[in-house]
Amino acid sequence: MVRDYSTLHDPNAEYTMRDLSGETMGVTADRGGPRDLEITDVQTTMVDGNFPWTLVRVYTDAGVVGTGEAYWGAGVPELIDRMRPFLVGENPLDVDRLFEHLVQKMSGEGSIGGVTVTAISGVDVALHDLAGKVLDAPAYQLLGGKYRDRVRVYCDCHAGEEADPESNADEAERVVEELGYDALKFDLDVPSGHEKDRANRHLRNPEVEHKVDIVEAVTERVGDRADVAFDCHWTFSGGSAKRLANQLEGYDVWWLEDPVPPENHDVQREVTQSTSVPIAAGENVYRKHGHRRLLEEQAVDIIAPDMPKVGGMRETRKIADMADTYYTPVAMHNVASPVATMASAHVGTAIPNSLAVEYHSYQLGWWEDLVEEDVIEDGYIEIPEDPGLGVTLDMDVVEEHMVDGEELFDEA
Ligand code: MG
Repeated sequence: MVRDYSTLHDPNAEYTMRDLSGETMGVTADRGGPRDLEITDVQTTMVDGNFPWTLVRVYTDAGVVGTGEAYWGAGVPELIDRMRPFLVGENPLDVDRLFEHLVQKMSGEGSIGGVTVTAISGVDVALHDLAGKVLDAPAYQLLGGKYRDRVRVYCDCHAGEEADPESNADEAERVVEELGYDALKFDLDVPSGHEKDRANRHLRNPEVEHKVDIVEAVTERVGDRADVAFDCHWTFSGGSAKRLANQLEGYDVWWLEDPVPPENHDVQREVTQSTSVPIAAGENVYRKHGHRRLLEEQAVDIIAPDMPKVGGMRETRKIADMADTYYTPVAMHNVASPVATMASAHVGTAIPNSLAVEYHSYQLGWWEDLVEEDVIEDGYIEIPEDPGLGVTLDMDVVEEHMVDGEELFDEA
């Protein structure tokens, strides 16, 4: 059953809230030239990629359409439907105000964190594409311009179920030589055969040795041909994470990601400050507020926000700015289609402290077919100079891979 939220009244209307609508602020009444336009509709279509990608389109009365993408998650399309009445009639060029407007209006659905922020992120990406097209400027220009002509991409790699050190090293070799990446990531929370009880988060010494063997095999195989990060997916206790990091200090580890669960900042900070191995975290928290303590407490060496989940392009720029006050680099987590991947790359060129953007779909086969343009070439994304994001959905491919029951977007 598809529920239509657009006809519901504003559930927050009875409360006194900071009213950031254009109507109240006099924004929609004071328009001229290219600002004389308003949002007429917002639509979503889910595509069955290696994750269920939620594509978003924002329509205007000028016939210009912006395309974005939200991180996957159950309920995201419904939440975007719920936002429609808060967007229709608004001026799409007020990207920053509309973000705050949606956070206010969606407070009942939970807009401090979680899928509501994810849904708002997808709208923000579409608004950047739309505003760029209206103003005839690439999206990065809306974020302050370029630091670099191409943004580095790291390839998230998988070496099959066996996860023995040599199969990881073989895959690293293949991805570097055949696919042309100079930056990789491998999972380090893989079974070693020595586990007794994974629920207690404690690593036995043979498990630590197995992980060190993987890191040694991969880093020594690729040598200086590629940087290699390792992801632990929030698996270990603080003590085990420290023991693991300590034993990896002799190897060329780009970063060790999420060795401990994301909730306890004290443990996160202690692990990070106990080792010279760079520790990355951030994909599980939302908005700049979620990243503030990680940065202020210097609980990470590298911050890893997921742009179409954390709050969108502008919010990621704000997180990067906050990170830069602690001289902390940004490695954007990313499991998106080419749409949000390109949007992350626009952010990546607009901030000084970008390390790389993740690519998580090298085994999918048709990832790049979703758009008409080339996106990743030889491990880098060249930033397009076309207005907006500079990518165009191939609607035949969207239709071919739509999740069952989804409908294709309307024409502009
Ligand atoms: Mg991760």
